Amino acid sequence: MTSYSGVGVSAGRVVGRVIPMAPPVAEPPVGEMFDPSVTSAEAEAARVKDAALAVRDALRERAATAKIESQAILQATAQMAADPSLRKGAMKRVQEQGLSAERAVWDVAGEIAAKLAALGEYMVERQNDVNDVRNRIVAELRGEQPPGVPESDAPFVLTAVDLAPADTALLDPHKVLALVTSDGGPQSHTAIIARQLGLPAVVAAHGADKVPSGTEVYVDGAAGTISDEVTAEDHRRAEQWAVRQANPLTFDGDGRLKDGYKVQLLANIGGAKDAEKAVAANAEGVGLFRTEFLFLGSKVEPSLEKQEHEYSAVFAQFPGRKVVVRTLDAGADKPLPFLTDESEPNPALGVRGYRCDAVTPGVLGNQLTAIARAAFFNQADVWVMAPMISTVAEAADFVQMCESAGLKRPGVMIEVPSAALCADNVLVPATFASIGTNDLTQYTMAADRQLGALAELNDPWQPGVLRLVRATCDGARVAGGGDPSVRPVGVCGEAAGDPAMAVVLVGVGVASLSMTARSIPAVAAVLKTVTLDQARDIAAKALAAPSVAEAKAVVRAALPVLDELGL
Ligand code: PEP
Ligand code: MG
Repeated sequence: MTSYSGVGVSAGRVVGRVIPMAPPVAEPPVGEMFDPSVTSAEAEAARVKDAALAVRDALRERAATAKIESQAILQATAQMAADPSLRKGAMKRVQEQGLSAERAVWDVAGEIAAKLAALGEYMVERQNDVNDVRNRIVAELRGEQPPGVPESDAPFVLTAVDLAPADTALLDPHKVLALVTSDGGPQSHTAIIARQLGLPAVVAAHGADKVPSGTEVYVDGAAGTISDEVTAEDHRRAEQWAVRQANPLTFDGDGRLKDGYKVQLLANIGGAKDAEKAVAANAEGVGLFRTEFLFLGSKVEPSLEKQEHEYSAVFAQFPGRKVVVRTLDAGADKPLPFLTDESEPNPALGVRGYRCDAVTPGVLGNQLTAIARAAFFNQADVWVMAPMISTVAEAADFVQMCESAGLKRPGVMIEVPSAALCADNVLVPATFASIGTNDLTQYTMAADRQLGALAELNDPWQPGVLRLVRATCDGARVAGGGDPSVRPVGVCGEAAGDPAMAVVLVGVGVASLSMTARSIPAVAAVLKTVTLDQARDIAAKALAAPSVAEAKAVVRAALPVLDELGL
């Protein structure tokens, strides 16, 4: 038996067969020619045609059974595979220049993509489609597996080194039973998306990407393990989990402790679609609207109108409710071509988030104007916060920019240790704080959140991180003249969606928790089992613990509900 252990990032237990992610398609050598002693130009050109049409048919077939959101993407890609300019252009090059079918397709696709790039922002996605079609045709010509998420009629366990955001966007949770990567950290966006989709997931499971296709495995997304010898007990646990999935916990829209103490339970969203899910899950509002997710493919700054439209589409869904908009957090794991300098040697420590305003002035001001316009035309209670604030001067500057734009609830994210330690001063100009535990953890532990090898350090249960969360709440109380409700502190990092951690956070003084909508019911259920005094006592024990393992153990021991609910 071989078992792989990594970091469990999304709970769930399943048994299924592995299908690995296809490796990227390698570029054919520049100028590669077909061998005229083996084949003719006509036959080589016919290969181009056959491959392009085979790709088109396969995509159409897949679109017919895909989930609604993916259908349009697949149909657009199918249409592009059928596009005569690509196919005929490549056939012509085979016939006139003697290029191999693979190289001819590569070259013509490159020309089409360059033309689209010259047309600007709105064509970027089409350019990605051309590259995707090119890769699919070349894979077909070589007899290789199509690139990207594998296609399969039967549900499967997807293994990969790591996943690109574009791959995760196409994941069909009805087809993919679980996600296992050999790289990637618990705070990586792969992990975040797995949680959003409710897929059991394990990251940093070294060697798991090499498990042969077709192998039956047992994946435990809470324990962070995969094994290729599936026992009767594993099957029983997987069945038990499936039963619980069929009868999921629900949330009544009012987060409270056992004694009635209010804890707002909010959703993290990336746009209007997520907002719908948040409304359906009865979230009390939005605690983190990651606006940069809307513009990841944009080469140029999106127009005020486009921004206003996107923000309105979210605000309209929360009349009278709080929506915390995070201004563009460009850089590091979320590069935006119009703000990010790709050549930075250390992007996580570079010009990202609020810092971009000094290097590319204007974009932040425009965004605040667009948010203010959208807020004006909607009834949502709009709060705005900047990511990556490190000093009092930065906080004061951001607050001033918000006020100039007419935004009434400016706040700051606490993601940098210096801001947490100086919260008593940093929060004087701001009206609220939201702790981004994902980045706060990576900066406290000096461990890149995307690196699987550092996953153990990248854990918000680390004593240093817990102490900085407490320092933020203590500082906020001071900034609010001794009243914690004057400068409320929320948490919007992934830690807020961990039901055991949620109790600790409330116990140190956190007023609201924001998480992927799917996590809200479990967090609500666990919070309901403790009083504020008990939460404070549990938090004190966690903060006194010398290690992650001891902090987790002492909290679990005080919360039997976790085992009762299988969390
Ligand atoms: C965080 O850092 O915890 C956070 C919420 O922001 P992001 O994950 O988008 O960097
Ligand atoms: Mg962050």
